[in-house]
Amino acid sequence: MRILTVASEAVPFAKTGGLADVIGALPLALARLGHTVDVVMPRYRGITAGERAGQVTVRLGGQVAEAGIWIAERGPEESAPSQAQVRTVFIDQPTYYDRDFLYGTAGQDYPDNPERFAFLAVAALEWAASTVQHFDIVHGHDWQAGLVPVLLQTGRAPATIARTQAVFTNHNLAYQGVFDASWLPRLGLGWELMRIDALEYWGRISYLKSGLMFSRMITTVSPRYAREIQTPEYGFGFDGILRYRRDDVVGILNGIDYDQWDPTRDSNIPEPYDANNTAGKQAAKRAVLDKYGLRTDEAAMARPLVGLISRLVDQKGFDLIAEIADQLAQLDASFVLLGTGERRYEDFWLGLAARHPDRIGVKIGFDEPLAHLIEGGADLFLMPSRFEPSGLNQMFSMRYGTVPVVRAVGGLDDTVLNYNPRTGEGTGFSFQDYTAQALLNTLRWALDVFRDRATWQRIQREGMTQDFSWDASARQYVKVYERALGRTRTDGI
Ligand code: ADP
Repeated sequence: MRILTVASEAVPFAKTGGLADVIGALPLALARLGHTVDVVMPRYRGITAGERAGQVTVRLGGQVAEAGIWIAERGPEESAPSQAQVRTVFIDQPTYYDRDFLYGTAGQDYPDNPERFAFLAVAALEWAASTVQHFDIVHGHDWQAGLVPVLLQTGRAPATIARTQAVFTNHNLAYQGVFDASWLPRLGLGWELMRIDALEYWGRISYLKSGLMFSRMITTVSPRYAREIQTPEYGFGFDGILRYRRDDVVGILNGIDYDQWDPTRDSNIPEPYDANNTAGKQAAKRAVLDKYGLRTDEAAMARPLVGLISRLVDQKGFDLIAEIADQLAQLDASFVLLGTGERRYEDFWLGLAARHPDRIGVKIGFDEPLAHLIEGGADLFLMPSRFEPSGLNQMFSMRYGTVPVVRAVGGLDDTVLNYNPRTGEGTGFSFQDYTAQALLNTLRWALDVFRDRATWQRIQREGMTQDFSWDASARQYVKVYERALGRTRTDGI
């Protein structure tokens, strides 16, 4: 199959979160199965990859602009069949994409985001239509690519691509691309889309809704999240739409990219290690403590180190942590946090570290090498999310022998097996209720088990030997593509 993927970020070119990890890895996994993928994304400031490969004309309402096309080859992978390849196609339009950030400054989205990502969708389809290739599937991700299905379905795409089936993946229902309805005529979309079975959303329009309503198949990033989003509690106002489309909704767990995340060959950690011998974690732990200005004497090295790497937003459970912050500092543990996000949480963590400089280290920023080092050096990883579509960090953690403590929700529940003292089985620790007390109790329990070295090592080893590779997930995406093409029955995924 030949797949056109449209997304707003991808490793190694631009990243704000897990979406970029998925778009970086899934196409390569599809190529290993023999499929060819072109990923279309904006050419943001700082992207230098690729060669200039012409331009396409993009019409948005009355506006006509040229989009430069840059193409970078990313494959074929060594193990991929020779015809399969992955290319990244960058849409160059400096007015929209040559900016400091991808979507906006910390507190505020760019006001022309509807136009920036309408441009992406239209340019992607124009480029695809301008090539000689025939695409089988157009796969859009999140609201930024949400207009792709509506363009295809309503005769707004070039004729050569108009009959291509659309698949849409939602990575997080909290981001909905909701804008003023007056954008419809400005973008040439027509008021007839202002209907409840089209883009209308509470008197405004939603790009996410466009993706959900007009695609042939919908996927999301874990089986449990696929069920949760059909309920009012986790549906963020979209549960009705998702129940309406439930026969076409499939949950496929994200994989992790073992080329990037593997403690046996990660250049960001001082000593490699594996499931049979985790001694190398000590050197990483020392390096982490050192980087955070925490002590590295014998007592500090023996004390369990809890890592957190996260966007600092409500979703990730920081309100729970705030409730019990000073009690955390009383535990027999040290904490290191790496994150950026809401100002109030940045201030909160900086304040906490100032009050407990011997136990709590904080770095505000986005730092990929440090994220790897923390995964290597921490003993536990804390992820008490309110909701979590898939979550990657808990999987990185397990891979690195860093035992996750999570709330049993979404992809966290699909990946972390709560330790069972009776059977000795488990890969981490989880709690159900979204309360600070449940979090504190569970963390205390994990810290108790930490002292039982044999049990701890068993939990570590079980986590390290789980298979979170992309290959199984990529096979499921292929099944979804086949269903979209009408090549398989409608059940059985
Ligand atoms: P989300 O997509 O909701 O942010 P995920 O756990 O699915 O959460 O993915 C987050 C990704 O972003 C992971 O790869 C994680 O390591 C990375 N990440 C988040 N914050 C930072 C940071 N401050 N520095 C480096 N990497 C980060």
